Amino acid sequence: MPDALEKITDYDRLIKVFGVSRITDELLKELPEKHKLFEIGYFFAHRDFDKVISAWKRGESFAILTGRGPSNVLHLGHLLIFDFVAWMQRTFKVPVFIPLSDDEKYVFKKVKNLRDSEFYAYDNALDIAALGFDERWTNFFISTKMLDVYQLAVTLSRFTTLNEVKAVFGFTDSDNPGKYFYAVVQSAHILYPTWRKGFTSLVPIAIDQDPYIRLSRDIAERIKLPKPAALHSKYLPGLTGEPMSASKPETAIFVTDKPKEIKKKIWAALTGGQPTIEEQRQKGGDPEKCVVFQWLQAFVLDVKEAEELKERCRSGQQLCGDCKKTLYKAMIKRLKDHHKKKIEMIDKVDKFFMHPVDHGVLDEIRKKEEELLKEFERASKNL
Ligand code: SF4
Repeated sequence: MPDALEKITDYDRLIKVFGVSRITDELLKELPEKHKLFEIGYFFAHRDFDKVISAWKRGESFAILTGRGPSNVLHLGHLLIFDFVAWMQRTFKVPVFIPLSDDEKYVFKKVKNLRDSEFYAYDNALDIAALGFDERWTNFFISTKMLDVYQLAVTLSRFTTLNEVKAVFGFTDSDNPGKYFYAVVQSAHILYPTWRKGFTSLVPIAIDQDPYIRLSRDIAERIKLPKPAALHSKYLPGLTGEPMSASKPETAIFVTDKPKEIKKKIWAALTGGQPTIEEQRQKGGDPEKCVVFQWLQAFVLDVKEAEELKERCRSGQQLCGDCKKTLYKAMIKRLKDHHKKKIEMIDKVDKFFMHPVDHGVLDEIRKKEEELLKEFERASKNL
């Protein structure tokens, strides 16, 4: 396992280092329904999620805040989180705010210009909206288009210092001032539902991003707003065992990948299997070390089916090739449905945005999606 992944999978240590709370069975019993990502421990820690749930049971709503930095197309790891957020919205009947931080991607030089980031903002928003969000309660916005967010960021900037921002983000004097100001913009995104609408914010976030939540909580306290709560997730490993990354396309399945590319990536994925079929039959595999198993568990199987697969794997009854075929078929079906829903969202997307939408960009996206849908329809006939 690569060092980078080893570092981010030391989750017990992160709970201690960040001083966050573990999600316990008692806390899960308080929820009206369980989600698989809680049951398999993907969401495993929190800050004040218990308080949010207690308040919700007393009739106080909350808002979910989950952002996206639009510098590329989404991959399935992103969809997993947004799927979970859509489930939270349906289960708790709460508003969701989704800032698309073109400003972040520009000042961190992840895009050439703001216009490029805007294209990805709409493209990503359509992918997210296609997951079944309720248009009445879902609020997308592109960060630089929201005067309200700018006003809040300016307000918040007086409640932190350069030293604090440097300590949290690790910036130096050579970093551009946009990065420093983006730190307060990010806090403005997180605190926006509280400041404008009076909802406590709940932020689903990968555990290593917790320092940013802490900064927003400290600022909230100083400005006398309720502190945002957080739900912390682990990382789903990429297909090669490394973290999923746009700079290493073989690690992830992107929503723009074609069936052939998906097949190639899945067939090259890391497993916990033995080198030959005979050895697999004799010794069995190790699902704990198997990325294909983790992907099947996250995207395809329910909790019971995943446990059964583990047993068959360990006893040598299961072969890696069959797992990969199952994963491939599920991905093709899922992405075929996804592209269809994404095209349907193009005509509805205005209803999800808090500001006017650029329809020129949408026409470009429609063409690309129609081509992709055809590819997936052809591939699903051959499954
Ligand atoms: Fe993974 Fe399946 Fe191979 Fe077991 S049989 S190691 S679960 S791919």
